[in-house]
Amino acid sequence: DEATRNERWLVTYKESIEAKYLRRLAIITELKQSLTAERNELSMVYQPKINLQTMQVVSVEALIRWDNHTLGKVPPDEFIQIAERAGLIDQVTHWVVTQTLQHLRYFRDMGFAFTVAINLSSQDIQNPVVFERLNRQLSELGLSASDIELEITESDLLADGPHAFQTLLNLKAQGFTLAIDDFGTGYSSLSYLKKLPVDNLKIDKSFVLKLSTDTDDQRLVHTILSLAAMFELNVVAEGVEDEAALHILQEWGCQVAQGYFISKPLPLQELLVWLRDTAYTPKNIGTALG
Ligand code: C2E
Ligand code: MG
Ligand code: MG
Ligand code: MG
Repeated sequence: DEATRNERWLVTYKESIEAKYLRRLAIITELKQSLTAERNELSMVYQPKINLQTMQVVSVEALIRWDNHTLGKVPPDEFIQIAERAGLIDQVTHWVVTQTLQHLRYFRDMGFAFTVAINLSSQDIQNPVVFERLNRQLSELGLSASDIELEITESDLLADGPHAFQTLLNLKAQGFTLAIDDFGTGYSSLSYLKKLPVDNLKIDKSFVLKLSTDTDDQRLVHTILSLAAMFELNVVAEGVEDEAALHILQEWGCQVAQGYFISKPLPLQELLVWLRDTAYTPKNIGTALG
């Protein structure tokens, strides 16, 4: 009868809430351990972005990976959000920046000129300590702000309003390249876009993955490209999975592309092999790789 059905539903509901709660708790507990103890469970991978006119690597995006001894591989989309709410994001970002800058120093020593893009969360952009630390670490390694691109999601920018705007101005003045990540998912108004002191728009991959076949996505991407041209912003398309999409973007004047068709995100050593073998590396640098 209905009473029994309701009761069963309630039990299932409670169980699913409990499961979610327990998973969050496990992620928080394990992440704390991974950040502080020498477990080697965290690592960085790098995904190349190519300029669609020169067809050469202009930047690599630094993406975190976490392979935990009990939870297995936990995707960043899941644990970054949990880290933000648990007050752990500052530690995560510190770890990411430290690793990435060391690797960037190595890229420079190898003769590579591409920038490295680092993802920041909304709490990072509200925290001046993050940028003091970043600048100190850059100068300790003989690197500068112009070596770095900072990716901030559209929704984080919108959530933080006027304060984010001032932060972006400061960061630009310091010489960082700024990108709005996941563009198209956060409902920016046109007037907002006009005022934003950023260099690049990264079109969210959800609009790019099916670009070669989906006419709605084609119209959307085309509109974003004309909008960006109007405001003199460069566009980076993420999620380029096939040659057809790459050609469409190229034809429509999109400046930069990133996606599995070019390369998946790779650990440092694999990236070096990829850079040695690919036509996307300038010829004069390939020789330095042996
Ligand atoms: P994002 O910054 O938008 O990064 C792009 C995501 O798209 C990456 O997922 C990348 O692996 C994936 N991707 C790139 N090309 C393709 C493609 O052709 N096809 C498909 N299906 N996917 C593609 P990933 O590495 O799982 O990262 C997910 C999100 O987690 C990132 O989205 C970013 O918001 C966050 N994240 C990753 N690393 C960090 C980090 O170090 N710090 C912070 N704060 N967030 C990070
Ligand atoms: Mg990103
Ligand atoms: Mg993105
Ligand atoms: Mg994303």
